[in-house]
Amino acid sequence: MPTTTASPVAATPPDKLPSKPKKPLVRRLLQDRSQQVRHAVQLAFLALNAWLAIEFLLWVRYFESNGQTRYFERPAGVEGWLPIAGLMNLKYFLVTHHVAAVHPAAMVLVAVFLLSSLLLKKTFCSWLCPVGTVSEYLWKLGHKLFGRNLTLPRWLDIPLRSLKYLLLGFFLYIVISMSADGLNDFLLAPFGIIADVKMLNFFRHIGTIGIAVLATFVVLSVFIKNFWCRFLCPYGALMGIVSTFSPVKIRRDADACIDCGKCNKACPSNLPVDQLVQVRSLECTGCMTCVAVCPAENALQFALPPHRLSAGEVSGLEVSGPALSAARWSHRTVQPRMVVVVLAIVFFGLIGLARATGHWQTHISRDIYMQLVPHADDYNH
Ligand code: SF4
Ligand code: SF4
Repeated sequence: MPTTTASPVAATPPDKLPSKPKKPLVRRLLQDRSQQVRHAVQLAFLALNAWLAIEFLLWVRYFESNGQTRYFERPAGVEGWLPIAGLMNLKYFLVTHHVAAVHPAAMVLVAVFLLSSLLLKKTFCSWLCPVGTVSEYLWKLGHKLFGRNLTLPRWLDIPLRSLKYLLLGFFLYIVISMSADGLNDFLLAPFGIIADVKMLNFFRHIGTIGIAVLATFVVLSVFIKNFWCRFLCPYGALMGIVSTFSPVKIRRDADACIDCGKCNKACPSNLPVDQLVQVRSLECTGCMTCVAVCPAENALQFALPPHRLSAGEVSGLEVSGPALSAARWSHRTVQPRMVVVVLAIVFFGLIGLARATGHWQTHISRDIYMQLVPHADDYNH
């Protein structure tokens, strides 16, 4: 007589517990071009800044040589490197409704970058800022050399990230606490007029300590993604705060997402994109790297809030399927070329308006520059 052996009821080992069923991957139809477009814009801005620096240097050389070298127009765009003067001018304008005579372009450019952050998250940092571009190349170099970048533990990362907000608070406190007359006096004083020349001289005549600090930042940037931007840049901190009001965000469609985690791994800001429905973080730069690596159709978008579909619309679609996701995101996504168009409209629109109304160039005579520029290092605040 055959013996029946009862099958043993073994406990399921913890690593064999039934996991969430895998969702089928509906592959994206079109190849993502966001990173090629973004890198092209970054390089164009880097080239623009290099050109501004060279022309500004030639302008300074004219005065330093007592008019012996060829005269070049002062490129007002160089004031983009004077964000504090830009904030001072902005406050002066908001209080008096007049544009200050000195460094108005600094204010225009602050307004351009604030508006772009309001419309398109912190795209200033990942699409336009030359420091952000250089930082990105440095950490990518580190990744190439060492196969990875360092991620700081949370207990160190969070306090370090707060440094940029402290710096921003300090600069805002100075600007906000100054009266309109005080701001005007500051900007019209020799130090204010040639603040740009002093900044240039800082880099031209950089001392040992300056070189050591700069070299430290470069080395840290090779190991840690966007070291300067993540921990120290007060301008990025300001753009991040404004960007929280942007209607456009990175948005994940849980129905279309297959939980592969690629977006999470690729995010240069170390954000847990695969666990969020929308990325509200102040650290999100709208770089679209996460979107570029996502393999699933309609799973991840840089987009306005999705359509709220009515029950009737949903019942007419294949619920939880690609059709539902496609309907949700139809006309809501912001494609890379649209980012370029919006940035260009804001950039050229505000600068064009400032030029047309005579509020782009600093109105200081050549004679005054001839007195001040050669002695820039003697003027301190
Ligand atoms: S969430 Fe996406 S867009 Fe935002 S920083 Fe990370 S990779 Fe860039
Ligand atoms: S990359 Fe992120 S959003 Fe895209 S499918 Fe994978 S986990 Fe989901």
